[in-house]
Amino acid sequence: SNHKNDKDKGVNVQVLVRCRPLSEDESRVNTPVVISCNEGRREVSAVHNIANKQIDKNFAFDKVFGPNSQQNEVYEQAVSPIVYEVLEGYNCTIFAYGQTGTGKTYTMEGGARQKNGEFPSDAGVIPRAVKHIFDILEAQNAEYSMKVTFLELYNEEITDLLTPEETSKAVDEKSKKPIALMEDGKGGVFVRGLEEEIVCTANEIYKILEKGSAKRRTAETLLNKQSSRSHSIFSVTIHIKECTPEGEEMIKSGKLNLVDLAGSENICRSGAREGRAREAGEINKSLLTLGRVINALVEHSGHIPYRDSKLTRLLRDSLGGKTKTCVIATISPSIHCLDETLNTLDYAHRAK
Ligand code: ADP
Ligand code: MG
Repeated sequence: SNHKNDKDKGVNVQVLVRCRPLSEDESRVNTPVVISCNEGRREVSAVHNIANKQIDKNFAFDKVFGPNSQQNEVYEQAVSPIVYEVLEGYNCTIFAYGQTGTGKTYTMEGGARQKNGEFPSDAGVIPRAVKHIFDILEAQNAEYSMKVTFLELYNEEITDLLTPEETSKAVDEKSKKPIALMEDGKGGVFVRGLEEEIVCTANEIYKILEKGSAKRRTAETLLNKQSSRSHSIFSVTIHIKECTPEGEEMIKSGKLNLVDLAGSENICRSGAREGRAREAGEINKSLLTLGRVINALVEHSGHIPYRDSKLTRLLRDSLGGKTKTCVIATISPSIHCLDETLNTLDYAHRAK
């Protein structure tokens, strides 16, 4: 990174990389590994030598998680500090960014569903964060409430993943209009007609995640969506009642957005495969704009192009200013993914 004094400059964007292990299938056919992770030096290297192509590149990040990293390590080292910020009243966002199949959903949601009330060891960031928030607030004997929203963004259209009806598109019942982003007149936005669920125990989060996945599957079938092209945004808002030393009551609120982004292979790249690239670019305006917004924040540029996509408009109150952002870039170690891996490392590195 060329920003040695990130802290001094007030940059609140952290970028980490997580490399998944080879899958069983990949191991069985001895897929060559071209990525090595040095967690201590916080570096990722891509090394590949064949006659007409030599690659030897190093990238440094705020943190690096190698193929053996466990879900609890990612949570404790990368996410847990952010949860404390949320409880202090910050709005924070964690993005999973990377090629389809590299572990974005595994990192955010986790591999297993809850079994007979026990917390699975491969639970991802979302259930861990929710449980952690409850644990902290219960230990403090705080008076608080938690609510959750879960939505999907596909082709710049919002689908509410928590509405029960089996319709193809979420509809605001009162107006019968598709869910829309509205300006709140104070520079923020809200989503009209979005379902909010009050959450009372950590275990309920699995019901909510399952409801969301079921809804997403239905919408996929009905609309012929390709899941790798949608973003999902899981948001937790917490209100905590506090008393000032003068005995005045006040409510502190913080929000945590957990975003599973569309596969980065959808991003339009300059000079890339003509027509398809343009289509992909349209479909993933949000992914491109997110990169520009994060760049602008890191570079302290005067103009932050929030308005250029739904994703960045939605997250506007949680990007820049008094917020913390963490990008978890996920990659595969396989030789077959090398091109996309280099693209991901470049994108993630530019966000630093
Ligand atoms: P994505 O959401 O980026 O498309 P997934 O999260 O669905 O990718 O992961 C693809 C596959 O790889 C899944 O079977 C998942 O369980 C597995 N996987 C991903 N990351 C890891 C990891 N760090 N450790 C073990 N398995 C992983
Ligand atoms: Mg996924």
